Amino acid sequence: MCETGERTSFHQHYPSFEACVAFHGHACPGLATGYRVATAAMRSLGVARPYDEELVCVAETDACGVDAIQMVTGCTAGKGNLVIHDYGKHAFSFFSREGRRAIRIVVSRGTMPDQSEMDTLRNKVFSGTADSREHARFNMLKQATLERILTAPEHEILTINEIREKPPRKARIFKSVTCARCGESVADAKTRVIDGSRLCIPCAEATQRKVQ
Ligand SMILES: [Zn+2]
Ligand SMILES: [Zn+2]
Repeated sequence: MCETGERTSFHQHYPSFEACVAFHGHACPGLATGYRVATAAMRSLGVARPYDEELVCVAETDACGVDAIQMVTGCTAGKGNLVIHDYGKHAFSFFSREGRRAIRIVVSRGTMPDQSEMDTLRNKVFSGTADSREHARFNMLKQATLERILTAPEHEILTINEIREKPPRKARIFKSVTCARCGESVADAKTRVIDGSRLCIPCAEATQRKVQ
């Protein structure tokens, strides 16, 4: 498939990394990774920011990078075209319904030169035992990692493969029913029947806990 001028110009309309930082709340290597994945996916599938559910993403992690994916690709948890299967892997599949194509992107950050120092410092920072000098050094290394991720040649950090899988099914609209215990409205498909009454999941679990 050849890229038309119109398609390539879409690239300029992606939200910037700064916009992702504003959405996410801080700049971090994970967000930078998600940004590279998201822009690579859009380019490789030749899609602009999708309308409705044209593009679907299945993320195999629920970490920071997912926020950049939501911001750039428009695949969001709320619309149902971002599905998170948290396997703790930096891998993301994208399905273009219109183009009938799918790709899987696996992140390989490789071994960063300062990795072991980063790991040692991270442990200290998160256990509250780092002094101010170590805090500063940690932040500096984190910033350097982030910049490396944003500027690295794509093939060094991402492996992109075409896949033949079908996209997950479209989000369906469920009818609502009233939970027999709390009286709140709940999607029918998310209810459980306990002793003949239809309950929402928290109520069903509370009832079962009492029985045990
Ligand atoms: Zn983050
Ligand atoms: Zn309930």
